[in-house]
Amino acid sequence: MTYNFDCVVVGCGIAGMTAAIYLKRSNVNVLVLDNDAPGGLLNKISVVENYPGFNRISGPDLAYKIYEQVNELGIEVRYGKVLEVKDHIITTDLEQISADKIILAIGRKARKLENTNNLKNVSYCAVCDANLYKDKIVAIVGYSNSAVEEALYLADICKKVIIISRGEKLKAEEILIDKVNNKNNIEIQFNCVIETLNSENNILTKINTNKGSFSIDGLFIAIGYEPNTEFLKDLKKDNGYIIVDEKMKTNVDYIYACGDIIKKDIYQLTTATGEATIAAINVKKELSVRS
Ligand SMILES: Cc1cc2nc3c(=O)[nH]c(=O)nc-3n(C[C@H](O)[C@H](O)[C@H](O)COP(=O)(O)OP(=O)(O)OC[C@H]3O[C@@H](n4cnc5c(N)ncnc54)[C@H](O)[C@@H]3O)c2cc1C
Repeated sequence: MTYNFDCVVVGCGIAGMTAAIYLKRSNVNVLVLDNDAPGGLLNKISVVENYPGFNRISGPDLAYKIYEQVNELGIEVRYGKVLEVKDHIITTDLEQISADKIILAIGRKARKLENTNNLKNVSYCAVCDANLYKDKIVAIVGYSNSAVEEALYLADICKKVIIISRGEKLKAEEILIDKVNNKNNIEIQFNCVIETLNSENNILTKINTNKGSFSIDGLFIAIGYEPNTEFLKDLKKDNGYIIVDEKMKTNVDYIYACGDIIKKDIYQLTTATGEATIAAINVKKELSVRS
C-alpha cells in the first residue's frame, strides 16, 4: 500500500520535534502535525535550568532553537488538530493523511480548577499572563515543581504571590524551594484548601480557604496535568496515559508514542527527548526492514 508519508508525528513539542529530526536525518519522509504553535509546553516555561547545553534558557527560546533545527532540515510542519487515528489514516479538522507509521507526541493538558471557567483573571500560564498582574497580588494553587517555578516567575513581576498548597510542604526540587524561601514577596499557605470563590462581573476578587480569605487580583493554577487521549480508542492506556513497550511502541503495531503522553514516572524535557529518539530509531528500523 502507498501512504502519503512514511511517518507522521503528531505533536510539535520537544518530543515530536526530536522524533522528526531523527527521522528526517535518516531519510524518512516525515510530516509533523500540531494544532498550536511549535514548542508545546516549552512555550509556557519561564526558565529551564536543567537541559544539558544551556545553563539557563527560557522555554520559548529553547523551543525556537529546536524549531530552527526542524526548519533547517526541511521538515514539513502542518497545522491540524488530530481527531482520529485508524487503519493508518489520520483525520484532522482539515484533512485526512495516510502514514505507514505514526508517532504520537501530543503531551497533556493542564487540569482545570472547578468553578473557574467563566472567570477572566484566572490563568494556567505564568509566562503568558504574569505581565497583566505587574505590581499586583496574585495567588497560585499547587505545590509541585511547576507550581513553584511559576511562583518564582510571578514573584519577579507581581507585588505579592501567595502559594496555596494543599500539601504540608512543597514537592519540588530543593534548589527551587531555596529560591522561594529567599523571596520576601512569596507567602506560602500549607494544608490550605480553597472552599469558595468571590467574584464580581466574572472577575475573581477573593479566595476563601480553610486558612482564611485572601483578596487577590489574579489566580494562577498549577494543579497538574491530564492526558487528552479519549479520541485514541484502540490504544491501551492507564488513566489516559498511553502504554508503550521499551521501543516506545503501543499495542497497535504501527503506532508509537513518546513524551508526556505516555505512562511513565518522570515527565521532563530530557526524558521526552530520550523516548522520542527511541521511537524514531525503531520506526526507521521497521521501515528499512520492509523496503
Ligand atoms: C510550568 C512547567 C515548567 C516545567 N519546567 C521544566 C523544566 O524546567 N525542566 C524539564 O525538564 N521539564 C520541565 N517541564 C516539563 C516539560 O515541559 C515536559 O515534560 C515536556 O515539555 C513535554 O513535551 P512533549 O513534547 O511530550 O509535550 P508538549 O510539549 O505538551 O507537546 C505536545 C504538542 O502536541 C500538540 N497536540 C496535542 N493534542 C493534539 C492533537 N489532537 N492534534 C495535534 N496536535 C496536538 C500540542 O499542541 C503540543 O504542541 C515543565 C512543565 C511545566 C508545565
